[in-house]
Amino acid sequence: MRIVLLGPPGAGKGTQATILSEKLGVPHISTGDLFRANIGQGTPLGVEAKKYLDAGDLVPSDLTNRMVEARLGDADAGSGFLLDGFPRTIDQAEALEGILQRLGVKLDAVLEFQVDEDVVVERMLARGRDDDKEDVIRNRLRVYREETRPLLEHYKSLEVSVDAVGEVDEVNGRAMTALGK
Ligand code: ADP
Repeated sequence: MRIVLLGPPGAGKGTQATILSEKLGVPHISTGDLFRANIGQGTPLGVEAKKYLDAGDLVPSDLTNRMVEARLGDADAGSGFLLDGFPRTIDQAEALEGILQRLGVKLDAVLEFQVDEDVVVERMLARGRDDDKEDVIRNRLRVYREETRPLLEHYKSLEVSVDAVGEVDEVNGRAMTALGK
């Protein structure tokens, strides 16, 4: 299955993606994780991306799109993937359509994790990643509202939603049901 995960930062997409990846037998591809790996290894892409992650801003789409195209072309993504953190803008959604067309494949579903903003702020402050500081979190939520939320309308025909508030297993059960599994 080829699935895009949507939802605000802190919605638990990464946690759910790890479990879904195992159950569905497709790789979890997280743009945030790919950026963090590049930053950790000090690659040119990482050096460029770091300032955006530190501020909670979006990394420019040309860099992001190229990184995603390369990753989706890897052999393990041939039979499917869970895309987490991409697309985050309408432009990126259009870029993804181009990438999938070149690969000759189509998305099966867009899985939306629904959760209120006050819940995600609490979760992120508890998680304490480098970019989980209150002002950076606030900026990421603003970017989500302005840039990413319009994707819900864009993907309406492919979309299934799950209530993302609850125990990890419970939310996972809802996600599997929503995907018809
Ligand atoms: P969260 O879901 O908590 O926002 P992510 O790991 O998905 O965490 O993203 C962390 C950061 O990585 C973002 O704030 C942004 O700087 C960068 N990033 C991730 N995905 C994208 C993307 N599709 N386009 C641009 N920047 C991205």
